[in-house]
Amino acid sequence: MADIRSGIQYMFQTRNPVTLAVSGTGHSAMECAIFNAVEAGDSVLAAVNGIWGERAADMAERIGARVNTIVAPPGGFFTNAQIEQALSKHKPVLLFLAHGESSTGILHPLDGIGHLCHKHDCLLLVDSVASIGGAPVYMDQQGIDILYTGSQKVLNAPPGTAPISFSERACRKIFNRRTKPASFFLDLSWLSNYWGCDGKATRVYHHTGPVSAFYALRESLAILVEEGLEHSWERHGKVAEYFHTGLERMGLKLFVEDKALRLPTVTTIVAPHGYDWKEITSYIMKTHNLEISGGLGPSTGMVLRVGLMGCNSSISSADMVLAALRDALTHCHKSKV
Ligand code: PMP
Repeated sequence: MADIRSGIQYMFQTRNPVTLAVSGTGHSAMECAIFNAVEAGDSVLAAVNGIWGERAADMAERIGARVNTIVAPPGGFFTNAQIEQALSKHKPVLLFLAHGESSTGILHPLDGIGHLCHKHDCLLLVDSVASIGGAPVYMDQQGIDILYTGSQKVLNAPPGTAPISFSERACRKIFNRRTKPASFFLDLSWLSNYWGCDGKATRVYHHTGPVSAFYALRESLAILVEEGLEHSWERHGKVAEYFHTGLERMGLKLFVEDKALRLPTVTTIVAPHGYDWKEITSYIMKTHNLEISGGLGPSTGMVLRVGLMGCNSSISSADMVLAALRDALTHCHKSKV
């Protein structure tokens, strides 16, 4: 468990002592962050430019928070000025932002947002499920108060554990709550004792940890450490660029026009005109044994989504997907209108 904690600290670029893995998938870390940091009646701001902001807003509503959103269309993002305006208007205790918006393919800029949040006495919560290890994140330097991810994306570990870390500022709010968090299972006081983050000499049984999944998570973190974060970021960036060039050469259009805002791990392709996107994904699944998804939430029907992350971020995997798409475009039905 100590090795896992230091692996996560490295992956997140943080020295936060309250760093651990939640027993569950990415959604459990999302709820762990929100359920601990927010009390009923608190104001929460969710940046919604895809499904993840929508879900964060839904979770905060369920515990009685006063939720406001700033909304950008799928494929859009928020400028720091827009964020600051919303912070002044709604005075939230927490801002949710997805760094890797996997339903739309946006890599959201992070610089300066932590500073703005702190200026307005707000905690910054960042979802890095689809991005960590594939694109730079510096939790401490960027002033992120709560950061979480999942085990099954860039880390390539089995799903079922979700790394999460809390800044001192976040802990101050959480450990001085007026009310207990709604979830016993996700209560940070219990979890931080279970993970040995609270400095107490003894650990009290809280729940049975998924130990096999913890061993797998430990190994996946060791592999990331061996490769080195910078190298991993660079590899994901290069493979994504190669893949995107290949798609454009085939006549396909990328959903995110600005190269700097393209998520290197999840590529969104504009659903090709004249085709039924479901026929393309089923054809590729049946013929090539590859799973390509359609859109999700607000991007449904608009895009095809391809995930190349962790060990799958390689030129050979990119070539395999390009060949499958080329084949699908020649074999699937194309309407003449
Ligand atoms: N956030 C983002 C950005 C994601 O891509 C995902 C998974 N697709 C999640 C949260 C939820 O993770 P999980 O499916 O592991 O619960």
